[in-house]
Amino acid sequence: MKPLIVANWKMNPEILKRAKLLFDSIKRGIKNIKNVEIVISPPFIYLPLLLTPKPSIPKLGAQDCFWEEKGAFTGEISAKMLKNLGCDYVILGHSERRRYFRETDDTVNKKIRAALKTRLKPILCIGETFEERKKGKTFQVLRMQLEKDLKDIFQFKVYSLKFIVAYEPVWTIGTGKPCPIKEARIELLAIRKIISHLYDSSLAKKIKIIYGGSVNRKIAKDYIKEAQFQGLLIGGASLNAKEFIEIVKEVSQI
Ligand code: PEP
Repeated sequence: MKPLIVANWKMNPEILKRAKLLFDSIKRGIKNIKNVEIVISPPFIYLPLLLTPKPSIPKLGAQDCFWEEKGAFTGEISAKMLKNLGCDYVILGHSERRRYFRETDDTVNKKIRAALKTRLKPILCIGETFEERKKGKTFQVLRMQLEKDLKDIFQFKVYSLKFIVAYEPVWTIGTGKPCPIKEARIELLAIRKIISHLYDSSLAKKIKIIYGGSVNRKIAKDYIKEAQFQGLLIGGASLNAKEFIEIVKEVSQI
């Protein structure tokens, strides 16, 4: 399976010119890498300006979407609009959206369904907080999120395999403290087990599960090689073209 590396630029950079420069540097740096799927997720307003003709390398992803297709929903962007624009992926349920914007498992589920319906690949972010981990509740939290966020998605038969789960322990995001490889491996196996119990074992085997949380070039490949994730979600390090390209190169050499 081709590893997937997703850059989450969050609310950065502040100026379009910088976004273009960053995108172009990354594009140049990865142009000969064919064995890794690379996705850049900039803020919405930059998406149309970073589009390249298909098959685009890198691919584009959004950081969120709304579940209705169109209408009176001030400020929202639909999954369909993103797909029509040329996006291939959408990050959903990121812990920052759950925390700062009160996003619930119910709304994440609606968004996943909207994305699958329009053939946009959802990257579902799940993960426990530090308190939950300390109390030994990680498995419970992951199970609850997967159960609620993926509820009824299997009506989208052909496409139901096209979603990605990103294990992003909340305590590792933007903290410079990544999850130790052995612990991440345990949670990866837990996620597969939960999907297998909740849905079916063949889906659990095929689905792409990626890791995110303070990844840098020194540790990137360990999550793929040792912990056996199928990819990475990169926040802070994706704003530095050199660092991000190095991460992609490290992974491409596995
Ligand atoms: C993220 O926010 O998805 C993320 C992985 O951030 P960082 O790499 O900065 O921890």
